[in-house]
Amino acid sequence: MGLLDGKKALIFGVANDHSIAWGIARALHDQGAILGFSSVESLIDRRVRPLAESIGATFVEACDVQSDEQIAGVMAKWAAAYGEIDILVHALAFAKREDLDGEFANTSRDGFALAMDVSAYSLVALVREARPFLHPGSSVLTLSYYGAEKVVSHYNVMGVAKAALEASVRYLAADLGPSGVRVNAISAGPIRTLAAAGIAGFKKLYGSFAELAPLRANITIEDVGKTAIWLASDLSSAVTGEVVYVDGGFNVMGVPLAEG
Ligand code: NAD
Repeated sequence: MGLLDGKKALIFGVANDHSIAWGIARALHDQGAILGFSSVESLIDRRVRPLAESIGATFVEACDVQSDEQIAGVMAKWAAAYGEIDILVHALAFAKREDLDGEFANTSRDGFALAMDVSAYSLVALVREARPFLHPGSSVLTLSYYGAEKVVSHYNVMGVAKAALEASVRYLAADLGPSGVRVNAISAGPIRTLAAAGIAGFKKLYGSFAELAPLRANITIEDVGKTAIWLASDLSSAVTGEVVYVDGGFNVMGVPLAEG
């Protein structure tokens, strides 16, 4: 018996089998959840559909989260097929490559707006359109990073967007809590994904992480998936509005020194 037997989960953000969204999908699937996927059009046939099929999922819909119309379209199709959403996963973000290098002070107006729209506002838009299909016990989950609260070199505008995302989690939790719907974020340590490859200096950051984090290991998509099971399931029934760290304890360190 799985912790999520028969639960219906709609997952945004699978790009490939390295995606955090895919780690979460596999973990939810292993616990008995029924899954559906949405991703950007260009990835659907080449990447997302084959992955979905590998775990028996048939719902695969394209959606650019910058479009309210496309979001509403996916939700309507989901509702027609499955009726309700028990678990909604938002695991996506975007910023221009040039805004993830050099100084934050040089961020352009449109680069700032783009990063905020795709990486933070999209959670609000997804929740708003999903709301009619959420019910008491439903769980909404997003992904954040430590750069939301402390300066991480080159993370720049994405750090500001993640700060907005984390604040949005708290406001959404307050709005949806009275209906019994929970909203939380997982703040994951660095993981080698397509999105991470766009951040200048990520290799260095990833390379030194295991020396500095108390648990002395890098973070995997399986680590994130396990915490997602907890947040998606009744085990976290009284947890909402939180940012849960899956970072081997990295965030508790003040001035870590690499050993050796
Ligand atoms: P990824 O590249 O596998 O996933 C990012 C996803 O965002 C892709 O599927 C991409 O298609 C999607 N996306 C971008 N713009 C979009 C748009 N306009 N509409 C719809 N989808 C769009 O990378 P990932 O690292 O798995 O990223 C997932 C989430 O995890 C992101 O929010 C990221 O910031 C966060 N995160 C990543 C790390 C890390 O180190 N990789 C750490 C903490 C948090």
